[in-house]
Amino acid sequence: MDGFRPRTVRVRSTTRPKVGRCRSGPRGGDSVGSNTDWMLHGSCRTADPDALFVEGAAQNRAKAVCAGCPVLTECLAEALDHRIEHGVWGGMTDRERRALLRRRPTVMSWRGLLEQARAEYERQAADGRKELTRTG
Ligand code: SF4
Repeated sequence: MDGFRPRTVRVRSTTRPKVGRCRSGPRGGDSVGSNTDWMLHGSCRTADPDALFVEGAAQNRAKAVCAGCPVLTECLAEALDHRIEHGVWGGMTDRERRALLRRRPTVMSWRGLLEQARAEYERQAADGRKELTRTG
């Protein structure tokens, strides 16, 4: 696979679970207690290795890499469920994720919640397409 170089994330906290995400985004590796096959499909897998670990305004540019990523939901869920503290994951900066976690402290599985929301969105979109087809 072109440009696929799995690496290990820089671990800055000893309380954080081991996550085998490369420094530039979830390009590979495995994660304790989760299915990480999605990492093979991230839009960032061919990006600059340091592109998603930037500070300040550069984070907005880094987030642009996530726009349209086919595994955005899985990536964000991984970061939220494992309390990953650094870098852009799933289109959110570390600061944005911390704020979200503070707002929703009772969520036990972000993966489950986000997958449920995506399924509902897709169901509603399909219903809307059917309605458009029916009404012409
Ligand atoms: S959402 Fe962003 S960080 Fe996550 S896999 Fe996709 S491009 Fe990479």
